Amino acid sequence: MKYILLILFCFGFIFTAKAQHPPIFEGLQIDSTNLFLQDLPINLVKYSYREPNINFLSIHDNEDTGVKAAFEFIRYSGGSIIDCQYGSARNFQFLYNEEEFQTDPNSIYSKSGIIKGLEKYGRADVEVVKQLEELSNTILKKYSENNPAYFFTLHNNADGGFGISSYLKGYELEGYADSLHINFQMDNDDLILVTDLALFNHLKIENVNVVLQSISAPDDGSLSVYSMKKNIPYINVEVQHGHFDENLRLIEISTKALLQIYPELTQASLR
Ligand SMILES: [Zn+2]
Repeated sequence: MKYILLILFCFGFIFTAKAQHPPIFEGLQIDSTNLFLQDLPINLVKYSYREPNINFLSIHDNEDTGVKAAFEFIRYSGGSIIDCQYGSARNFQFLYNEEEFQTDPNSIYSKSGIIKGLEKYGRADVEVVKQLEELSNTILKKYSENNPAYFFTLHNNADGGFGISSYLKGYELEGYADSLHINFQMDNDDLILVTDLALFNHLKIENVNVVLQSISAPDDGSLSVYSMKKNIPYINVEVQHGHFDENLRLIEISTKALLQIYPELTQASLR
């Protein structure tokens, strides 16, 4: 199979039965784009409810708390989420010419990032690189029809390890942040990452853990670096697995910030 197969299904009910992320509530619309990355089925599932409002994106399939919090948000406020479903794992793992490949789905938004991402787990094959480029374009198109006003992503992390303190001087992500604001009352694992100074300043006033990504952050193929290069406001609300209430609170604070600072960017997605 040389190319990613793109088959668009309009039969949302098929997926209601096996939807990975409850709660599914009455009136929630489901629109799935079904792809294959070689032998790996990937479903890009868009859940929408009532007015458009904010559109969220979840790109790691083993990170469910953010998806559940987004469901709760759109249940009361309207909106949508695109959830990438490929077997509840973090990484894409697939066979090409009987060879196993693996990469992080958040490393496919630049060619150099795709190569580095594949080499982390094995080697980078030219054809596989091309397929991942096509896949990232399909995800971006599904999110915004090639005209993104912003990106609002949802991630979850484990207790300990990565957290807001990872960006402090002397820690592993020191070079990735221009500015940091830490609320020491909050869990270190619960944070918001933005690529935009106005959003950062607004969220700092809200006294939440917030990181302003550095313009010189290394290109790891992540969507945040892609957004910065393209000058598209980007928000990642990232909390520890299971911190549902905090996840919802940070989504609400970030949404308010985005709507206040960029009403012109979001009005297209509003009534
Ligand atoms: Zn993630």
